[in-house]
Amino acid sequence: MTTNMAKLNTKAASKTHRVLLFGGPKTGKSLIAGQLAEYYNLIWVDMENGHETLFQLPPEWQEKIELINLPDTRSYPIAIETCLKMVKGSVSICEQHGKVGCMICKRVQTDRCKSTDDSIKHIEIGKELFTDVDLPNMNHNSVVVFDSLTQLSNSAIAFITKDQPDDYKLNYDDWGNLGKLLDIFLSHIQQAGYNVIVISHEIEAETEGKKKTLVPVGGTRNFSRNIAKYFDHVIYAERKNRKHIFASSTQYATNILTGSRTDVRVEDAEKASLLAIFKPELYPETAHKSEAGKEGKKTGKVGKLAAKATSTSASKAGDILAKLKAKQK
Ligand SMILES: [Zn+2]
Repeated sequence: MTTNMAKLNTKAASKTHRVLLFGGPKTGKSLIAGQLAEYYNLIWVDMENGHETLFQLPPEWQEKIELINLPDTRSYPIAIETCLKMVKGSVSICEQHGKVGCMICKRVQTDRCKSTDDSIKHIEIGKELFTDVDLPNMNHNSVVVFDSLTQLSNSAIAFITKDQPDDYKLNYDDWGNLGKLLDIFLSHIQQAGYNVIVISHEIEAETEGKKKTLVPVGGTRNFSRNIAKYFDHVIYAERKNRKHIFASSTQYATNILTGSRTDVRVEDAEKASLLAIFKPELYPETAHKSEAGKEGKKTGKVGKLAAKATSTSASKAGDILAKLKAKQK
């Protein structure tokens, strides 16, 4: 019985993809993710007010994008709270504050209900204040986009230090708690049976042999170095000769962290698209061509990606977590 269930889970999960898309500003990250609306319904969790790029898409695609705006600021770090609740289960998010089960908006809803006599209208008025999302039960025709992990990290820092003065410096425990919060969020993404794209920026981190590598931003520099392990595909976006380039192959560049569980080479497509990952049948040219010499390496990609990411034997973020856990006991 248990074996069958495990098999079913694996099968369901393989139909969906968890993608980390990172790169500098203005490298076309939001647009390439938004273009999936041609084939998918998108739930766009916007923490950066970056959804304006999506207005470049054809109107009929825009209609397939549900925007969830999280007005995250230093003094109101709502993104971390709402995103953690979203990945855990079914939630109702208010449009004004981006808060799950917001009491302020519920009160407004009740007050409005009192002010009119038409009972059907009450429900309609109430509904437009809240957006219902159920990520764990989302179907395969939908993709949720978190934009961005950079802002989510900032939100977590603001949340941890919210009662502190402006010039407060984070201590050892604070950094540990930041790692914990991000690990909870990313672990849920890792286990998710639905399609996810997490957008992030780039940071330079030292990997094996003090080699400098560009990795996705998330929490501390040490934590950032290990984020790739939570994802099936890590794609890098950059601008070269006024063109947007997107790369997913492990071999793309020695100083940039990239990789794909299914060996997709997004950079080989004539016109770059994330459909190379989500609908590979439409992009046969991006399928990994196995050469005779490379045959042996074929199965080792995920391991390789993880190895590249966790190259420093003792990840400090992991150490902090372990110590915190030990302390709590
Ligand atoms: Zn509200």
